[in-house]
Amino acid sequence: MGIFDEMAKYGHEQLHFFQHRGTKLKAIVAIHDTTLGPALGGCRMRPYETEEDALFDVLRLSRGMTYKCGVADVDNGGGKSVIIGDPNTDKSPEMFRAFGRFVGSLGGRFYTGTDMGTTPMDFVHASREAQHGGFVGLPEEYGGSGNTAIPTALGVYQGIRATAKVLWGHEDLTGKRFAVQGVGKVGALTVERLVAAGAQVYITDVYQPFVDALVAKVPPVQMLGVVAPDEIYGLDVDMFVPCALGAIVNDETIPQFKCKAIVGSANNQLLDMEKHGKMLHEKGILYAPDYLVNAGGLIQVADELKGYVEARVMAKTNSIYEMLLQVYALSTEQNIPTWLAADRLVEERIARVEDLKSMFSL
Ligand code: NAD
Repeated sequence: MGIFDEMAKYGHEQLHFFQHRGTKLKAIVAIHDTTLGPALGGCRMRPYETEEDALFDVLRLSRGMTYKCGVADVDNGGGKSVIIGDPNTDKSPEMFRAFGRFVGSLGGRFYTGTDMGTTPMDFVHASREAQHGGFVGLPEEYGGSGNTAIPTALGVYQGIRATAKVLWGHEDLTGKRFAVQGVGKVGALTVERLVAAGAQVYITDVYQPFVDALVAKVPPVQMLGVVAPDEIYGLDVDMFVPCALGAIVNDETIPQFKCKAIVGSANNQLLDMEKHGKMLHEKGILYAPDYLVNAGGLIQVADELKGYVEARVMAKTNSIYEMLLQVYALSTEQNIPTWLAADRLVEERIARVEDLKSMFSL
């Protein structure tokens, strides 16, 4: 299939290929949809086996960003960039400066920041060369907004509250039982919020120091136990809270679940969106779409483009509660899986903004 056919398939607006011989930079930027504003999306660096793999990834991920920005109600469209190379061996400050010159030349149509294989420091180098911006998520000492895990964990907590409201008619989490997978940056903060709200938790992580640090903080009466990584799925809990890996909702785990709902920060939780979303729907397990509940981090970096205000980020992140209630209501009303309900709400939101932008205004 040709490149224009690929772009037409999901309505991508623009595709850029950049190369710089001196630093061996090979990068692709995909802009999917800018109805809501300039495109925003991370920059992933990976040793893609083929150029087609890189192209496929950037097209798929940039489209996902349109939905993520739409659901988070930020004034940005979907975009993404990929750099073809091994982040451990091929990186140099100059490579990112070259990348900065290219992204800067897009004149503010596209903003990017860290993703798999890239760090905030890479974009310190890049932003030195970009006169018209183009970079977000720099370290705080370089003007960035800091740790995105804080709003992300707040969003997960609001997702849990909204889910509790649907399950029990109230948000009181006292005595409710949660299984948290991964207690890194987001998972640990989520556990702290749950415990403060009176809930009880099981936890698991493959990195023992994180487990030990959390066990020392949680009152023993609220710590139901530390379990092995593969035991987390079958526990008798109210909610499963995945904060580690993607693709953990699949043919093997769904039959094990005893939980009433899945609400967590991990990206791409459903191995196969259509198949596994439907299986959860049929099993009566509420699934909070990951790209909605983990939108706090995106809300924070998008806010940098307006001049970061922490209180605004937290207020916007709190609204994940309302949006998730709308998703659940639409899912029930139309008897469709929640991920599809979320997609439909975003598409309606984008169509409404498109309509009002048809009116001329300076
Ligand atoms: P993190 O790396 O700090 O934490 C992830 C934790 O998961 C680590 O402690 C790791 O040891 C653990 N882990 C890895 N494999 C595991 C396994 N098999 N079983 C149990 N634990 C395992 O990452 P984070 O920033 O806390 O992000 C957590 C998830 O949320 C990731 O999927 C990330 O993509 C997603 N997310 C994070 C943010 C953010 O702002 N940090 C925003 C959106 C989405």
